[in-house]
Amino acid sequence: MALSFIKPFISELPGDAITENYSRQVKNACFSYVAPETFSNSKWVHKSPALITELELEHIHDDELLALFSGQNLSVAKQSYAMCYGGHQFGQWAGQLGDGRAINLGQQIHKGSMWTWQLKGAGPTPYSRMADGYAVLRSSIREHLCSEAMHALGVPTTRSLGIIESGKEVERDMMYDGNPKMEKGAIVCRIAPSFIRFGNFEILAAQEDYTSLKQLADYTIRHHFPEIVSTDKEAYIQLFKEVSERTLQLMLAWTRVGFVHGVMNTDNMSILGLTIDYGPYGWLEGFDPGWTPNTTDRMHKRYRFGQQVQIGLWNLVKLANALYPLIEEAKPLEEILNSYDKQFGPQFIEMMSMKLGLASKGTKDLVDSLVKQLSVLETDMTIFFRSIMDIGPDDEPHEMLEKINPAFYEDPDEDQLESWTKWLLSYQKTMATDMNDGKARRKLMSQTNPKYVLRNYMAQLAIDKAELGDYTLINELYTLLANPYSEQKDMEKWYAKRPEWARHKVGCSMLSCSS
Ligand code: AMP
Ligand code: MG
Repeated sequence: MALSFIKPFISELPGDAITENYSRQVKNACFSYVAPETFSNSKWVHKSPALITELELEHIHDDELLALFSGQNLSVAKQSYAMCYGGHQFGQWAGQLGDGRAINLGQQIHKGSMWTWQLKGAGPTPYSRMADGYAVLRSSIREHLCSEAMHALGVPTTRSLGIIESGKEVERDMMYDGNPKMEKGAIVCRIAPSFIRFGNFEILAAQEDYTSLKQLADYTIRHHFPEIVSTDKEAYIQLFKEVSERTLQLMLAWTRVGFVHGVMNTDNMSILGLTIDYGPYGWLEGFDPGWTPNTTDRMHKRYRFGQQVQIGLWNLVKLANALYPLIEEAKPLEEILNSYDKQFGPQFIEMMSMKLGLASKGTKDLVDSLVKQLSVLETDMTIFFRSIMDIGPDDEPHEMLEKINPAFYEDPDEDQLESWTKWLLSYQKTMATDMNDGKARRKLMSQTNPKYVLRNYMAQLAIDKAELGDYTLINELYTLLANPYSEQKDMEKWYAKRPEWARHKVGCSMLSCSS
């Protein structure tokens, strides 16, 4: 069966009347028509076999996909488009943003589900503002590997079908320090049920275009929240409730695996509760709630690991404001926001208890003291939670300490050893009375605590090789991260703390938005 797309987004929603491609402010429209650029020297970098299988695309030849992604043959994707959205960036209303370097090819129906195909980096659109519409290879590799890894971790996310090198060189000033250089351009084919963001609603509300706002909300409910059967105001309240719940679950999932998004502006918040727009993201190595990989946010650390949940709520307030004109009642929206706030604490404890393999309630003190304890000395989050899987109820304190020792980045002193011993003994005590026996505890922990995550330096190693034309490490990491909870004996080298050379290296611990 040949690839084919339907276009509900453009056939059911208002579009921009202008069809030429130049940067502009777009009013009263959810999208603008725009075609991807045609690239003549493109080549495959990597494909995601998991997504190919899931969408049953095996019969589509690589050359056919390459021709589509490089704009050489767009016959199946006529009338491609860029979406109009705005957003709050770092706490401030930024006005119109939009798909400045993303072009939607259309929606594909597979087994009754809708999947939007989108090319990121395929050239300028009416929303490109002063930028070029391209993406570089390094950031495309990061997006491709991380989105597929997140999916395998069970974290809601947009997906990536594959990356191609566009064949075009792109100029970037990676650290914004006046040293621009030419880099390899690339295109990622992203796939998700929808790429609608909080910002799509915000821009229409800001323009006081309540007709289009209602159309967008109705469209979102019709296609993506069909379980909402109420009508009018009640439907929009339900929509907000559902988005709020999904956002909270997403924040908890990021916390569980140690993911820091880095740029949680409202234009980077998916209405479906998916992780979207992988930019200067990072993974916790030492457990540090104050950490952000984003150098652009170095001063205020607004989007640091430990603040993501609160930012999720802040962003939901902005969405509530945008939906308000359709509801005209603040109370139901406030109740939903309050519920997010109230639920986070207990749900965080529940999630952390699962990481500890415990079934019991009443673990708050144990979890709270662990969060403090993990900051006593630099302790690798991933290795720590996998190591405590081996702790048994009869272990002596020195045996427990030996088990968690590989997670420490420095040698613990006497006081640190003492506080760790105290925590480990209280964990052991809880374990003894918990409903989960050793087997159940291990099973739960091995499904909740990944053994392999895309450590910042791992992605950088794959990028360094790929810049030289060698894509083997991309494939190795992709394969490794497809089963992040499984023991992979021949891959033990990736179950290791961050090497010292990567501690302050650009691309490993420091990333900018320049991509
Ligand atoms: P981001 O920080 O990647 O989420 O992007 C924020 C906004 O800037 C979005 O509207 C993007 O489409 C736009 N943008 C980022 N990079 C580029 C680029 N190279 N060309 C055009 N627009 C871009
Ligand atoms: Mg974005």
